[in-house]
Amino acid sequence: MTFNEGADLDTSQVRSGGSSRTGVAIGGGAGGIILLIIGLLLGVNPFEQGGTSSAFDPSQIQQAGTSELDLSQCKTGADANRDDVCRVVGTVNSVQDYWREALPADANRQYRDAYTVIYSGQTQSACGTASNAVGPFYCPTDEQVYIDASFFDDLTSRYGADGGALAQMYVVAHEYGHHVQNILGVLQYAQQDRQGATSGAVRVELMADCLAGVWANHASTTEDADGTTLIQPLTEADIESALSAAAAVGDDRIQESTTGRVNPESWTHGSSEQRQRWFMTGYESGNLNSCDTLSAQQL
Ligand SMILES: [Zn+2]
Repeated sequence: MTFNEGADLDTSQVRSGGSSRTGVAIGGGAGGIILLIIGLLLGVNPFEQGGTSSAFDPSQIQQAGTSELDLSQCKTGADANRDDVCRVVGTVNSVQDYWREALPADANRQYRDAYTVIYSGQTQSACGTASNAVGPFYCPTDEQVYIDASFFDDLTSRYGADGGALAQMYVVAHEYGHHVQNILGVLQYAQQDRQGATSGAVRVELMADCLAGVWANHASTTEDADGTTLIQPLTEADIESALSAAAAVGDDRIQESTTGRVNPESWTHGSSEQRQRWFMTGYESGNLNSCDTLSAQQL
């Protein structure tokens, strides 16, 4: 168990999205697998760059979710311990509680709250259509995180992360790392230099892993507005779970499993070893200033 059972969850930071078209047949064949990987690799903006807002219809953002996305079920930490969707709610609460305090203190920047849209099937973002073929991402245009409710099954069954809670929470914290980068004004380095072992994209992604680690360091001491801590002290097993997820989405591991060879020239997120190491850099330091991957000589 990770969440304190009696702590209150705040569902106002999360929206339930999605359409009833959950039967979209994606993910069966090789094409589906490639789409899924592209989405997961491009955690900043999986769609065409430039994010034209003309394709954006805000009226589609908040469609009624299916019953599995009923956020009213997510009331306490006990709910976050038993249910994936409620665990996203609790993680978003904790991550935002942390950055609201830390960003002004450590970087002299004001934090802006960002919604997470949890959806089933597909939903619209300002960056294009989000679907279960894409994987979790942060859209800088509308400043929202998009997570398909079925992704966490994929994280374990397709990518091989262990089933621990912190594996899932790392993914959420990584996406909020991109929101922090957006506030800091460094997110654009990913789009200026999109692939390669030392590219801007890889540096931005490894920084997001590091920022997830920074939050993890403070997770059990971060208080909500009522002075309640949501998360219990992390165990070694928790950290192992986060590291298993970081390794699972490493470029080298994904390339190896899909094409049988590793090609650093097309990396966008960094290797499994790099993703684990930068998560641990943030976790051990607990300070975002340790996450300067943009000027790091050694990635
Ligand atoms: Zn990312």
